[in-house]
Amino acid sequence: MWQHRNFPLLCLFNSYAIPFLIAKFGWNDGLGGLLYAGIIRIFLFQQATNCVNSLAHWLGDQPYADTNSPRDHIFTALITFGEGYHNFHHEFPADYRNGIRWFDYDPTKWFISLASPTSIISAWLGFACHLQEFESNEVNKAIFQQKWKQMEKLKRQINWGTPLDVLPIYSWSEYEALCINHGGSKYLVCVAGVIYDVKPFVDSHPGGRTLIEAYVGKDATASFHGGVYRHSKAASNLLDNMRFGVVRGGSRVDLHQQKVRHLNGLFKSSSISANSPLLSSLDKTC
Ligand SMILES: [Zn+2]
Repeated sequence: MWQHRNFPLLCLFNSYAIPFLIAKFGWNDGLGGLLYAGIIRIFLFQQATNCVNSLAHWLGDQPYADTNSPRDHIFTALITFGEGYHNFHHEFPADYRNGIRWFDYDPTKWFISLASPTSIISAWLGFACHLQEFESNEVNKAIFQQKWKQMEKLKRQINWGTPLDVLPIYSWSEYEALCINHGGSKYLVCVAGVIYDVKPFVDSHPGGRTLIEAYVGKDATASFHGGVYRHSKAASNLLDNMRFGVVRGGSRVDLHQQKVRHLNGLFKSSSISANSPLLSSLDKTC
């Protein structure tokens, strides 16, 4: 084929000679045309193109998978005409799209889509067919799995407090005796069957230390959950960091043990694996 045999010559002619000739005979600035419309244009174009293999593997998020380095970022998409949604491209390479949301800047996708048989101008263009798109259900699977992975990673970084299973167990009378024996060195209160030493927090308590002191050695469940004040989830989380023990027969502990028994039953019936996130999350958060 003629153009294949003369490829180097055609490259030089199209890239440098045409800009030079247009600028020379158009407004007598051949060197300006060669520099700006030839050399600098090609330099910028090459840099932008190769950003697909550099910037797109370094800048941005990984919403679909993080097994390799490709990432999604609007900046890379702007300079590569849509290829910057590179994480999607690597995970779903058969899909002709890069940015799949309607507002994603992806001119390449728009152009291919216009050239598809379903497009109103396809009869005019007519050079794109059999376009493949992954079902949104499959895309959502990848998004969910990636988010779950990131949440698991975050979960492992969080201090959830000492697990209930490893806390020492006390009878109610032993709990009362502990409060007497420890005097003011510990501030032991019981909420829903769990004993907490709230001494590190007693001076920061928004309701004042007097309120806490009134419940040392007692059951503060009703007061904590609305009798005096309905504490927030953040307050419960903070309390979990101060776990000291559990009261035998405490309601929250019973509930936890029931859940574990229930999940173990499911596991035995092969519905849940031993390392199920359900079991591990229960262990760490209850
Ligand atoms: Zn890549």
